Amino acid sequence: MVFHLYLWTCSVNFLIMKNVIIICLIGFVQLTACAQKTIDFEKYNPPSTLVVPEHKLTMAKFPFIDIHNHQWDPSTGGVSELIPDMNALNMQIMVNLSGKGFKSTNGRNGEFDVNTHDYLTQYLSNIKKAAPGRIILFTNISFVGFGDPGWTEKTVKELENDVRSGAQGLKIYKDLGLRFKDKKGKFIPIDDPALDPIWEKCGELKIPVLIHSADPKPFWSKMDENNERWLELITHPDRKRSDTDPAPWDSLIAEQHRMFKKHPHTIFIAAHFGWYANDLATLSKLLDEMPNVYTEFGAVIAELGRQPRMARKFFEKYQDRILFGKDSWAPEEYTTYFRVLETDDEYFPYHKKYHAFWRMYGMALPDSILKKIYYKNALKIVPGIDASRFPE
Ligand SMILES: [Zn+2]
Repeated sequence: MVFHLYLWTCSVNFLIMKNVIIICLIGFVQLTACAQKTIDFEKYNPPSTLVVPEHKLTMAKFPFIDIHNHQWDPSTGGVSELIPDMNALNMQIMVNLSGKGFKSTNGRNGEFDVNTHDYLTQYLSNIKKAAPGRIILFTNISFVGFGDPGWTEKTVKELENDVRSGAQGLKIYKDLGLRFKDKKGKFIPIDDPALDPIWEKCGELKIPVLIHSADPKPFWSKMDENNERWLELITHPDRKRSDTDPAPWDSLIAEQHRMFKKHPHTIFIAAHFGWYANDLATLSKLLDEMPNVYTEFGAVIAELGRQPRMARKFFEKYQDRILFGKDSWAPEEYTTYFRVLETDDEYFPYHKKYHAFWRMYGMALPDSILKKIYYKNALKIVPGIDASRFPE
C-alpha cells in the first residue's frame, strides 16, 4: 500500500512536471514570436512608399554665405581643400567662426584658451594665398584669467587687434553660460558686466557677434518617452543637463536676452534660431523686442521642415533678419537645407534621426526672400565682403 501510494505520487509529480515543461515551451515560443514583432526605434526607418514630386537639390539656387561653419586646419592645404565642395554647393563664402580655434580645454576651473593673434593672422594670410575672399574668419576670445584685474581691457585690445588684422566678426561659444567659470569657480553669466565693454566694442567696430547660448531645451527635460531628444541624449549622454548642471535653461536664455537688450547698438546673431525654432511665435516676439538681433538656422532646419506653413510666414515677416547657417561641415547634408528653403517637396527625409524622427516639407520661398537669406542679409551686417560676388 505504501509502495502503491509512492508510485501514485510519482506519477502525479511527473504529470505536473510535464505540464510545467509544456507551459514553459509555449511561453518561450510566444516570447520569440513577440521579439520578432518588435523593432528598435533606432532601427525603424522604412523607406517611404509615398509617390510625390521630388527635387533633391545638390546646390543652392543662388550663391550663398554660410554664416555658421567651423574649420580647424588653418594651412593653405586646409583652405584650398574646401573649395571644390563649396563650389559644388554654390557656397560662395564660408564663415569660419573658429578663427582662433581652441588651444586647450582644460584651463583653470573649466576655462579654455584660444589660439594667439599670430594663429589668426597666419590663417588670414593663408586664405589670401589659397582662396582669396572665399573664407571669412570670426575671432574668439580667451576666458582664461577672467576676473583678474585688467582682463576686460586686455581682451578688448586683442579683439580690436584681431579686427584690424582682418577678423570680420566675433563668435562666442556656448561654453559661456555652460562651462566657463571665474576665479572663485562660479559660472560666468552671459550678461556679466565685465563683458559689457566687449559687446560695446563690437558695436563700435561694426562687427556682428554670433553667439550660441544654452542648448535645445529638451536636454534639460526628463529623459523618457516624452522627450523629443531622447535618442540624442542616449547617443550623447554628456549633453544631458539639469537645473543645477549648470543652470535652468530659462535662466541661461534670459541672461542672453538681457545682454542683447543692454547693447542695442551691437548686432547679435542668435545661433540656432536662439533655440526657438520649435516656437516661432515666441521668437517673433523676441525679434520684435530686440531689433539688433538677427538669427540663423544652423542644426535646426528639421524644426522648420516640420512646420512649413508657419515657418514660411515667419520667413516672410523676418526676411531681413535671418541668415543661412549650417554649423557642422558635412557637404552632403546641405541638400536638406536647400530643399526645405527652396522646394515645395513633401515628406522627405532628414539626415540625422536624433534631430528628427519626422520628415521634412519644403517652404518654397520666393527668390526675393531666398536672396536675402542666402547672402543679402549677411552682406548687410558683416563688414568687408565683396558684394560683386553676388547677383543683384
Ligand atoms: Zn557652431
